[in-house]
Amino acid sequence: MSDMRYEAPRTLAAAVALLAGAKGHARVLAGGTDLLIHMRAGRVEPELLVDIKGIPEMTSIVAEGGGFRFGAAVSSMELLEHEAFSKAWPGVTEAAGLIGSTQIKGRATVGGNLCNASPAADSVPALIAAGAVASIVGPDGRREARVEDIATGPGKTSLANGEIVASFLLPPRPPRSGDAYLRFTPRTEMDIAVVGAGVNLTLDESGVCSEARVSLGAVAERALLVPDAAAALIGTRVDAEALERLGAAVSAACRPIDDKRGTKEYRIKVAGVMARRAAQIALDRARRKN
Ligand SMILES: Cc1cc2nc3c(=O)[nH]c(=O)nc-3n(C[C@H](O)[C@H](O)[C@H](O)COP(=O)(O)OP(=O)(O)OC[C@H]3O[C@@H](n4cnc5c(N)ncnc54)[C@H](O)[C@@H]3O)c2cc1C
Repeated sequence: MSDMRYEAPRTLAAAVALLAGAKGHARVLAGGTDLLIHMRAGRVEPELLVDIKGIPEMTSIVAEGGGFRFGAAVSSMELLEHEAFSKAWPGVTEAAGLIGSTQIKGRATVGGNLCNASPAADSVPALIAAGAVASIVGPDGRREARVEDIATGPGKTSLANGEIVASFLLPPRPPRSGDAYLRFTPRTEMDIAVVGAGVNLTLDESGVCSEARVSLGAVAERALLVPDAAAALIGTRVDAEALERLGAAVSAACRPIDDKRGTKEYRIKVAGVMARRAAQIALDRARRKN
């Protein structure tokens, strides 16, 4: 490995300036639980690492506009331990809680999970189902993007050179809302998803589903938002028939690969099952929140 420079700026503006001024390959360093592995394997050789964990805007969880904004460098353990956040967004919290071991969760960030752009990243479908919007800062200023528009394929994102995901905004929760994330792995611990399914829904006063978002991980080149699956729930009481239609819409949206963890056919079938179960959990949670 050639010489490498490490910088730990205290502001986003300084981080952006460092990335913009880099002569060679520069990388954002958050928890390092993906990046250090890629570096050790020789897949990336940055000339500059810009550590974002010391930037207050990127490491805080705050109430905003009736919802929550959390920094892209907040660790998954910090999200899990934030009582108000995990009460409002149990699905997003359980997805962040699935990332690796206790030690990994202490370092791993949701921003890193998204920007590493693994199709199997656990927090991403849950964030997409939640309708999360990322705030992105770069040499041309600040912009917003929906989480589903950031990863474009394995290891690839829509971020321009020098752009940093600063934070995520989760919208206010209407009454009778619930979310859930489920993943299927061949092993019970420390494995990546064969399928991940996130469901977020809201019921009206009579118990009919008025809003829904459904997202899948590990069944395509990136996490997918599946509007047809949401449409199967909206206007129903999320009964057995609606769940059947949701499962069918989910399976139809899958375009997975075959690998050692599962065949295409297996993933397509399991995706329908996981989405149905996640919808049932989201429904039970919504019914408890009057
Ligand atoms: C033992 C082990 C188990 C794991 N288990 C799981 C699991 O169960 N589920 C799962 O989803 N993942 C798992 N992972 C993968 C990893 O822990 C997660 O993807 C983690 O969330 C990455 O976050 P990080 O902060 O460590 O990212 P880093 O490694 O610091 O960064 C990852 C990539 O994103 C870029 N980046 C980071 N933050 C930003 C930002 N704010 N803006 C722009 N670019 C950025 C970096 O430059 C780098 O390219 C596991 C990893 C290990 C080592």
